Amino acid sequence: MRSTVISAMRAVIARIVLATEIVFANFQAKLIALVVASVLVPSAVMFFATLQSTEQFQTEHIRDKFSGILKVTRKEINRWHKDLLLDTERLVRSRGFLGPLERYYTATGKNVRKREKVEMEKYFAIVSEKFPGFEQFVVLDPFGGVIASSYVLSKNDRSVLDSLRVRSNKERFMSDESLSDTNVFYRWVLVPVEAGGWDATVVARVNLAGLTELLGPDALNPVGDLFILDGDGRYITQPRNAARDEESGAPANMIGLMAQSVLRGSNTEGPIQITTTTKQDFIDARGKRESRQRFISSRIHLAEYDWWLVCEDLESKVIAPVVIKKLQIMLVDFLICALFLFICWKLSVYLLRPVAALSDGARKINRGMVAVRIPGEGRDQIGQMIKAFNDMAEKITLTEAKLHATNQEIQSRNEDLERVNNELERLSITDGQTGLYNHRHFWKIMEHEVARSSRYKGELALILMDIDNFKEVNDKFGHSTGDLLIERIGRLLREKVRETDAIARYGGEEFAVLLPETSKKGALRVSEKVRRTIEGLVFKIPDVGLTLSVTVSVGVAVFERSRTKFFNDADKALYKSKSGGKNQVTFAEV
Ligand code: GH3
Ligand code: MG
Ligand code: MG
Repeated sequence: MRSTVISAMRAVIARIVLATEIVFANFQAKLIALVVASVLVPSAVMFFATLQSTEQFQTEHIRDKFSGILKVTRKEINRWHKDLLLDTERLVRSRGFLGPLERYYTATGKNVRKREKVEMEKYFAIVSEKFPGFEQFVVLDPFGGVIASSYVLSKNDRSVLDSLRVRSNKERFMSDESLSDTNVFYRWVLVPVEAGGWDATVVARVNLAGLTELLGPDALNPVGDLFILDGDGRYITQPRNAARDEESGAPANMIGLMAQSVLRGSNTEGPIQITTTTKQDFIDARGKRESRQRFISSRIHLAEYDWWLVCEDLESKVIAPVVIKKLQIMLVDFLICALFLFICWKLSVYLLRPVAALSDGARKINRGMVAVRIPGEGRDQIGQMIKAFNDMAEKITLTEAKLHATNQEIQSRNEDLERVNNELERLSITDGQTGLYNHRHFWKIMEHEVARSSRYKGELALILMDIDNFKEVNDKFGHSTGDLLIERIGRLLREKVRETDAIARYGGEEFAVLLPETSKKGALRVSEKVRRTIEGLVFKIPDVGLTLSVTVSVGVAVFERSRTKFFNDADKALYKSKSGGKNQVTFAEV
């Protein structure tokens, strides 16, 4: 199994290597790869470096922005609390309240007390109406008894108030926050007052909803948020981006999430941390339901209340400038790459076109098409290369032409030589006067024919012929006439025998004819015909006006065993013809 996988992987790698080799065998591909590597790598490095610094810059920017917002808000929260105390004090020190309280203490009748109590409660009702933050008021006597109350106190309320009164110790005091049954956080503010020589404590229950208004979103994006969590991660103020419980309207799943996030952080003062959180299924500040969004948040711990002040914003909004910058850098990178690729493509075309033309030209020259020339001679290296190629092609053309002329000359000389050779050969085997074979060549033929006849058991005959009384011709008419007569008889012989018969001038006025495939009978017949023809010949001596006639004696033999005997037989027969009276044909009887 493993070996199969390994061999499959090997095959894939081999294919990739092969494909790479094929692709990179192409010059253009090499050039483009080089440009891509030399442009893409630095620009990718630049891209990431710029991105890094932009992101860092952006993070700094967010940190500064969030830090500013948190610090300003912290001051406002502190002021809000201070104002709350002052407002409470101002309200309880007004005549509208102190008057009835004083009368309550100084009155003797129960009814009067009741009336003043009602007065006080009316005053509180008006205050609550005007200042919705002030939900309830309770006035306690120095012993913890309730003088007046804007609502019906439960037993539990009373014990809480008692403990608060003890803790305040006749000083102005503000309790920690508590969560009401309706999921609203509130604080108790205790203000000691004095009326008619008696002490009393006014306890105001103030809800912290006012803080929500304080944490306005002006400094943030429309979906940004600013809220306060208590030490347990519960919302003190209403967050804008939060899923709410359908029934109670309280922020639902956010509580746990933010609590975790808060508890993870340190509650010591230090550089503001930036955290990214993902919120699921919530309603954003614009009332839009979102299924999932990433937020960037920052927080500071308000130690005096053990609260967390949290500032958050949509990650996509906050880092939008970075995203835009990223896109801009990518676009510029892309454009640079595209530009370089375009230049590289143009360059490769500029380089490759002449290179292709050169290699094509070289191929053509190789095939013999030497007239090829490449356009594009110029000053640059490529132009120079083309020029060198064209010069070379020109030289090859000239050399080829010269070579051709030389070849032709050599050919014609060869032909001449052959002609001369043939002539020489002809001359070497013929007799100059008659054009018949000479004595030497006759013997060559004889040798050849004898061998052939011996091998194939063929017939072979020989005729020897001698002009009778030729001396007389010379003597009477001169040697030149004798020569002409010899020539004439030579021609006549040629006319009378077959093409295949070999005729030679054997001696001065002696002729020999070798007749292959000829029997004694045939040879005798030819001999007789020749003898008679010569006998009947009337030779006109040129320029003289005289005529003369000659006869010939002929000896005939047929080949039997040896060449020498063959010739001697014919010679003997000739001799017999001479001695027998000339002008006759004799066969050599063996
Ligand atoms: P026979 O009948 O016995 O043959 O008598 P013949 O006169 O022919 O005697 P022979 O054969 O002995 O002599 C041949 C003569 O032919 C001798 C020579 O002067 C002459 N002769 C040989 N060759 C030539 C030649 O080429 N030209 C001329 N004009 N005469 C030649
Ligand atoms: Mg002779
Ligand atoms: Mg003779």
